[in-house]
Amino acid sequence: MKYQTVLNNNITRCDICPRYCKLKNNQEGFCKVRKNIEGDIVLTTYSKTTGLAIDPVEKKPLYHFLPSSKVLSFGTLGCNMGCLFCQNEHITKIKDTNNYPLEYITPLEIAQCAKKYDCKSIAFTYNDPVIFLEFAIDSAIFAHKLNIKTILVSAGYINKAPREELFKYIDAANIDLKGFSEKFYQKNCLASLKPVLETLKYIKQKTNTHLEITTLLIEGENDDEEMIKNECAWIKNNLGCDTPLHFSAFHPAYKFMDRKRTNINTLLKARDIALKEGLNYVYCGNIVNIETSSTYCKNCKNLIIERNGFEVLKNNLIGSNKCKFCQSICDGIFN
Ligand code: SF4
Repeated sequence: MKYQTVLNNNITRCDICPRYCKLKNNQEGFCKVRKNIEGDIVLTTYSKTTGLAIDPVEKKPLYHFLPSSKVLSFGTLGCNMGCLFCQNEHITKIKDTNNYPLEYITPLEIAQCAKKYDCKSIAFTYNDPVIFLEFAIDSAIFAHKLNIKTILVSAGYINKAPREELFKYIDAANIDLKGFSEKFYQKNCLASLKPVLETLKYIKQKTNTHLEITTLLIEGENDDEEMIKNECAWIKNNLGCDTPLHFSAFHPAYKFMDRKRTNINTLLKARDIALKEGLNYVYCGNIVNIETSSTYCKNCKNLIIERNGFEVLKNNLIGSNKCKFCQSICDGIFN
């Protein structure tokens, strides 16, 4: 494997993500899918998937990337994050990956499947694609050959060198910014915030990848007014006020079964803070609310894309990306 360092005493270190797992022969990393086999770290889920699904692109969520188009989504098993509130624990927290029924599919077959079902993109999603980087890159190469775009849905917890390679192949990304403090990341994600911020800056400043951000709001953990203000100010100063931000509702899961589902007012309040901080495109997700899932022109404030959750009801863009009322450009990739 490319991103590894052979250390002393038959130990090989995985250099994909900031965990830097040091693995003995036959030992799996934190993510459960990278394993030391005779000194070489191998991705054990290459060409294996938990299943394919066709979704609207809005479900990723991406609201400023090929609206209403179909996406072929797939993921594997495992995760390099340790989120206690994981919303996909049935695939990310598997103790024994050998006991999970996975389907075999090659990168070429994934691209062909997307073509067959008229999907404009394929999405690496459900579990974190950082851990199946080689499989994602090979699939992206075939997808691009068939004129299909690629989407990454990730927590962005990845080291510099693999990050630079991965994003060469990615057209759009939704990155989870799980909370805006080191304390939150350490306590609730068993990870750290800094590498995630580096990934966000890298995508925005050094690539052509379209970027949107999602923050899952958990009451009492990351919905503090000051924390949300700081997050939005950071986004504005480092990524620009045109970066779409989605606040989405948490449902009780994994180690957070005793917590409440996020109240709609918590989401609305966060959105208000973000708009006051100067972000232009702020959405509420995992709730049904036309007002907060629609896009408004950043100049004249008229409604330009009306949505009900994942469904686009009206599109008032002309010439693909201009507001029909004032001709200002709406940021994103629309065709
Ligand atoms: S990708 Fe997996 S094995 Fe590698 S450092 Fe991260 S958690 Fe450890």
